[in-house]
Amino acid sequence: MSGDERVVIAIDGPAGAGKSTVGRALARRLDLGYLDTGAMYRGMTFAALRRGVVEGDLDEVAAMAPAVDLAVEDGTVTVDGVDATSAIRGREVTEAVSQIAANPAVRRVLVDRQRDWVERHGGGVVEGRDIGTVVFPDADLKLYITASPRVRAERRVRELGGDVVEVEASIIKRDRVDSSRTHSPLSEADDAVVVDTTGMSIDEVVDHIMEMLP
Ligand code: C5P
Repeated sequence: MSGDERVVIAIDGPAGAGKSTVGRALARRLDLGYLDTGAMYRGMTFAALRRGVVEGDLDEVAAMAPAVDLAVEDGTVTVDGVDATSAIRGREVTEAVSQIAANPAVRRVLVDRQRDWVERHGGGVVEGRDIGTVVFPDADLKLYITASPRVRAERRVRELGGDVVEVEASIIKRDRVDSSRTHSPLSEADDAVVVDTTGMSIDEVVDHIMEMLP
């Protein structure tokens, strides 16, 4: 890892690949903070739905974004003073989040807040879609964690319930929107270590990544 004292680990990849489990384990192991940036985009989406802002209305969403009060601690998400921890994982938010995340004004606001968070915490493990490519291009370690859509859907269903075929279709749709958007699409950084977790348990993935650390 680099000589300066601030360590940043970037974890990107598609929905349900195991990024959060891996990120939390790495953060614990390295005694770093952990930031789930997907929870921030979900929090923005929750705020839009609550305020009656239409997710496809670029200007309305852009006007709202800077005013949303968002607190993402490990485990809880508070939006405008309301506990949104469970609601942000629900179907309504999940179906709308990729459209909110495609809005460049939302991305500007959240990327600034993500960089502030890392500054305040003196580094951290940061998880999302554009962390190694856009938010922290100089991260000490960049991981791109992926798995087949079916395996990712099965993991999601074990965690949150639901029907595998439906969840798989929703994951494929979200990946398509996230990968094809104009601003900061999901893609692996040139210098990212790609970890395909199909056929591995999450514990095996964590062990494998731990071995990469000095
Ligand atoms: O990680 P999670 O699945 O909770 O992310 C929800 C959505 O937030 C993603 O599908 C994507 O549209 C958006 N996102 C993003 N950039 C990030 C993190 C998440 O666009 N850094």
